[in-house]
Amino acid sequence: MRRDEERRPRAIVTSVVALTTAIVAAACSTTGETDGSAVDGTGASAVVAYDGARVITGDGGVIEDAVFLVDADRFTGVGSRSEIQVPDGAARVDLSGKTVMPAIVNAHIHLSSDRAERTAQLRHLAYYGTSAAVSLGTDDGEVPLEMRAEAVPHGARSLSAGRGITMPEPGRSEVPHWVMTEDGARAAVRELAAQSVDIVKIWVDDRGGRYDKLTPELYAAIIDEAGRHGLMVTAHVFYLEDAKGLLRAGVDAFAHGIRDRDVDDELVELWLERPDVVLVPNLPGPGVALDLGWLSGTVPADELAEMQEASVDRPEAQASFGIQARNLARLSEAGIRIAFGTDGSAAWTAHQELEDMVRAGMTPSDVIVAATGGSAAFMGLDDLGNIEAGKSADFIVLDANPLDDITNTRRISSVFLRGVEVDRASIGERERNARP
Ligand SMILES: [Zn+2]
Repeated sequence: MRRDEERRPRAIVTSVVALTTAIVAAACSTTGETDGSAVDGTGASAVVAYDGARVITGDGGVIEDAVFLVDADRFTGVGSRSEIQVPDGAARVDLSGKTVMPAIVNAHIHLSSDRAERTAQLRHLAYYGTSAAVSLGTDDGEVPLEMRAEAVPHGARSLSAGRGITMPEPGRSEVPHWVMTEDGARAAVRELAAQSVDIVKIWVDDRGGRYDKLTPELYAAIIDEAGRHGLMVTAHVFYLEDAKGLLRAGVDAFAHGIRDRDVDDELVELWLERPDVVLVPNLPGPGVALDLGWLSGTVPADELAEMQEASVDRPEAQASFGIQARNLARLSEAGIRIAFGTDGSAAWTAHQELEDMVRAGMTPSDVIVAATGGSAAFMGLDDLGNIEAGKSADFIVLDANPLDDITNTRRISSVFLRGVEVDRASIGERERNARP
């Protein structure tokens, strides 16, 4: 038996709430003596060992009866009980019976451009286990760009595409760049590059015939100009034929699935010839009655009752879900890179999207990879998306295993971002009381 097992007390600290106190105490004790990371003057370690959970690592791996170590805001070790040496003096948290997964990376969402509102949204996202959110093309002004560098306490990290690019769409949002010429399109990209946006968003959609959509000449110019500045381009798309044109033009990602019809062999072949291109499926609602009781932590009771009443079977929605679900299943089976996004701004919809992706035919494991390690890799967030030594300690503790039933991602016991437990009680209370 290994030394660390011999002296193993089953959990010195048994609850996560007690643990937070321990971490804060440990952190405070080092203030002024060291850099506040690992060791204080007494030789005690500030490392926390989380012990006994099933760990879903975010790359398709699962470790049963795992131990993982967190030092300040980082994972410093993850493995089976026999692999991980727990440092002397480490605080221990017993997570027996729990499942731990990486926090979610949402690659398509729309956040407010108002600082206070955006802050509240990032906290609400954290409540539901999201560690980073990419606001995709409707960000106005400097605040969204500035806030990318800020660690909102108890909040997710944010990224921004700034103002996306489209043909004029009067009556819709006037935030995006409206372009009609190649020069205008390239100038818009140069402005975005000067702002160091995280990705360029374009819309290629006639909105049911109401608008002209970006032409192949214009989106080719945007993709070319973005490439010159080292920026990826992701496309809102609706029609199969536009998706083919965008693939030929070198687009990096799709912010939605193809929605007008089932994809064909030509599309799959074009995509497989460009294996780096990412699909963010962003499925529509499935059009079936759903039990929304799990939202009671953040949605006021009267509002939840209305939402529940409105959640009914809708055959039309089922049909459009069906097209996109079949397309996701086919592209996923073909080996296309899948990431994760929800559109909209509601923090809880990530869990609905996870269920819908499984409903479409992906396995729970593949869906979790898409929503964690897959999305992080897509957005170049090297320190997020996986439970792995060196990465940011962003994880969700679940009361049940989502590999058995994906809706178990809703059974959240606690969320940790950057090694600190998110104050879900306060965030929930604020959300339940802050509605107009
Ligand atoms: Zn969107």
